[in-house]
Amino acid sequence: MRIGDNGFSPGFTERGVPTEPEFVFELRVCQWAERRWPPDCGRDSDTAVLVARQLGTKYRRWDTIVVEADRTALRERAAFGAEGLNSDLLGVVRNAPVDWAWYRDALPEPDYPWQYVREAVHDAADRELVETRRGERGRIELRRHQSYPEWVDRIVAIENKPDLDAAAARDLAPQLERDVALGLADEVWVATGREGDTVEPALLEDVPVEAGILTVDPAANGPAGDAVVEVSWNPRTLTPDEPGTRITDRPAGSGRDASAARFEYADPAWKAEKRREIAERAYGRGWRAYADTMRPDCRHFNLHTEAGDALPWCAEKACHQTGGECSGSCPEFSPEPPAWRQQEWPIDGGPGKAVKRLLDAQRRRRRPGP
Ligand code: SF4
Repeated sequence: MRIGDNGFSPGFTERGVPTEPEFVFELRVCQWAERRWPPDCGRDSDTAVLVARQLGTKYRRWDTIVVEADRTALRERAAFGAEGLNSDLLGVVRNAPVDWAWYRDALPEPDYPWQYVREAVHDAADRELVETRRGERGRIELRRHQSYPEWVDRIVAIENKPDLDAAAARDLAPQLERDVALGLADEVWVATGREGDTVEPALLEDVPVEAGILTVDPAANGPAGDAVVEVSWNPRTLTPDEPGTRITDRPAGSGRDASAARFEYADPAWKAEKRREIAERAYGRGWRAYADTMRPDCRHFNLHTEAGDALPWCAEKACHQTGGECSGSCPEFSPEPPAWRQQEWPIDGGPGKAVKRLLDAQRRRRRPGP
């Protein structure tokens, strides 16, 4: 059993899975994936890996997203800034012409008013993603600085269920079947806590065969002191560049009976667009952005360093706190004293700001630059 820097020793369930919040399990999976993805073979030197949490579409949000990127193309992508590009900005930078042109001639006809496209063009110019000028009759013209690269090779979606018992596996199965039918990701995995040396047999029975299974032992030390993760079932590679099926409704009863389910068609162009948006959000946010929704400005907020990476730790509660409990409504919340801002901390913020800067620096270190 590993004792953390703060003397923390996780308890264990009857299945031998540490009883830390799912949130912390998720951070450990992200940490592991950032260092060791893909699980069974070494990383190609031409491939970079970006990891993010809680990303997806309006229909589905995954716990962990792994983006495998072409390293050269990713460096070209860095020229478009450190922030992710949303769908509006992607529409502008991907279609901006080499030579000056009126934006309505250059960009595809939207299915919403042109006024919003014009705003996106201005936003893109403000971020120096494209150049703009006033042309004839005051028309806004644009041209590209450089072409936007197709930097995403593969997208892998991981669902984290640290204590996945048979009932939870049955509940999860329809969701995974939807993921497989849609085929937005190249692979779909479930990450679960280890039970001794075996995988809960119910998992293999209830989880679709197309989904992979990772077993995670957070208490074991990997080569760099991180969690030990093993492949218990290899996934099938899905086909994001082919049409997919969005299951919008399915009958209760047997999860395998799709006879009366309702479907929507997902065309490859829609899937390609969503994959780009997901990858851009992963690029901009990474997985350490959790501090943005927590209270690092609380005097009890610490970063508990494990395997070179920092996980949130509450000194007051002596545990890894969840994002939900670490909020302004936390009864133990206590703002950092103003004096902290005048001591060892830089003058542009106290420890709360320093925590965010540290996490941001770690994120940038992991992302290849131009
Ligand atoms: S006391 Fe509450 S707000 Fe402060 S670090 Fe702990 S969980 Fe977060």
